[in-house]
Amino acid sequence: MQILIFGSPGVGKGTQAKILASKLNIPHISTGDILRYAIKNESELGKKAKEIVDRGELVPDDIMGEIVKETLTDPKCSNGFILDGYPRTLNQAKILEEILKTIKNEKHFLIKLDADDEIIIDRLTNRLVCCKCGNILNKSDVKENFSCPICNSLNSYAKRADDDESVIRRRLKVYHDTTAAVFDYYKDKAVIIEIDGTMPIEKVTEEIILKLVEN
Ligand code: AMP
Repeated sequence: MQILIFGSPGVGKGTQAKILASKLNIPHISTGDILRYAIKNESELGKKAKEIVDRGELVPDDIMGEIVKETLTDPKCSNGFILDGYPRTLNQAKILEEILKTIKNEKHFLIKLDADDEIIIDRLTNRLVCCKCGNILNKSDVKENFSCPICNSLNSYAKRADDDESVIRRRLKVYHDTTAAVFDYYKDKAVIIEIDGTMPIEKVTEEIILKLVEN
């Protein structure tokens, strides 16, 4: 099953993608995670991407295309994947189409999660992420000497560098100005599943699974 998960930053794409990947037994490919890993390890890619990611802007399409091509042509993606954070421009969508022609091109599903910007800003300014396993929690749930409920690491929760309010607003602007148009591109190319991303996590998953099964 080839799934694209789409929506504004902070709408819950990563959370749902992780759950779906585990339920459907397909890899979760997050271009944001790949970039953050590269930045943390100060690789060539990380050095090129750091300032752009910190500003909340988009890494150039050619760089992203290479990353996605390398990842999707790996045999671990041969039975499908859930792609989170890509494509973010029309050009990326066209690059993805070319990449998929070179591997098994199945029916795609595009899951779009929706939430208003003010809800997103509130969520992201209060979001903490486990530096070890990537689990996401609200600031109010993380106390001093807190162990991660997923990987047990102690005091491992921190704010993402791009979860600062001015950067969040920039990321939302990029989403509305550039990325939102990608949705129209897929209207006649993929099975579209639109879900209210403000519902509780379990409910969002339930609705997605229901629609995937129906289609
Ligand atoms: P995310 O974790 O998906 O919110 O991505 C975090 C940041 O990584 C974005 O704000 C961009 O700077 C960069 N990024 C992730 N995916 C892409 C992409 N497909 N194209 C360009 N930049 C990206």
